[in-house]
Amino acid sequence: MTTAFLTHPDALNHVNPDSHAECVARLEAIYRATGDLDLLRIEAPLADDAAILRAHPQRYIDRLEAAQPDTGTVALDPDTHLSAGSLLAARRAAGAAVKAVDMVLDGEAGNAFVAMRPPGHHAEPEKPMGFCLFGSIAIAALHALEARGLSRVAIVDFDVHHGNGTQAILWDEPRIRFFSSHGMPLYPGTGVASERGAHGQIVNIPLPPHSTGALYREKLESVILPALDGFKPELLLLSTGFDAHTGDPLADLDWQDDDFIYATARLCDAAEKHCGGRLVSLLEGGYNLSTLGGLVRAHIGVLQEHSA
Ligand SMILES: [Zn+2]
Repeated sequence: MTTAFLTHPDALNHVNPDSHAECVARLEAIYRATGDLDLLRIEAPLADDAAILRAHPQRYIDRLEAAQPDTGTVALDPDTHLSAGSLLAARRAAGAAVKAVDMVLDGEAGNAFVAMRPPGHHAEPEKPMGFCLFGSIAIAALHALEARGLSRVAIVDFDVHHGNGTQAILWDEPRIRFFSSHGMPLYPGTGVASERGAHGQIVNIPLPPHSTGALYREKLESVILPALDGFKPELLLLSTGFDAHTGDPLADLDWQDDDFIYATARLCDAAEKHCGGRLVSLLEGGYNLSTLGGLVRAHIGVLQEHSA
């Protein structure tokens, strides 16, 4: 089977102010680095309201729509902005995540990578945050439960920032295990190990400044993979950020290229062990434009090896 690659040109129409780290050039770098790969390329559909409403109330969607400008940008907070194309992009980012879940569950792809922006893991039920508008990965996980009848979904978030939005949306959801590793202290400041969710189903793994990928590998092997063995997910979702890389301008962890390859491979192994390899990876952060494309290409290369 093949690896699906979901994206849409509308993702280039979400525009942040000049010199903002979360920029259109990120996705352009990914397109350049992956354009020659043999992938099942899918145009991201729009998420419908039913999918988004599993994670956010209607009044939140209404509030964002009312705030979206016709020209220029509007700041929702110091980090998070809306331009004229933002909500279309965010709806397609969530729609791509939902479509990717459907494709792997229906056997149309072995696994999938979603290359969309804005990212999603900081968006709380009623609060845009950290460049994020809709919680795409939580929306995808809830779709798998509510629309596709799954009963156990796992999310592993190895973006360098805490997935506070995913955590907030899924705080009371016992059918989803959420694992987030993240630098600490670092934005947004949440994600201490004592935050466990209403059912003990959330696992936060703070990582100290300048820690290397060796520490993450140890946590993956001793904490995350054994917990996945116990939970036996029917689908594995990844919040894939590349901002733990040593060259990233927004954080101070020291992961190398091969740490991302290792993490991807071990998580693909876990998906093979528990759920026929069904894995969907969503792009979250990663802000070094000179390394992001290569990191994504290598990540997808591992997905391809595991979908063969
Ligand atoms: Zn991040």
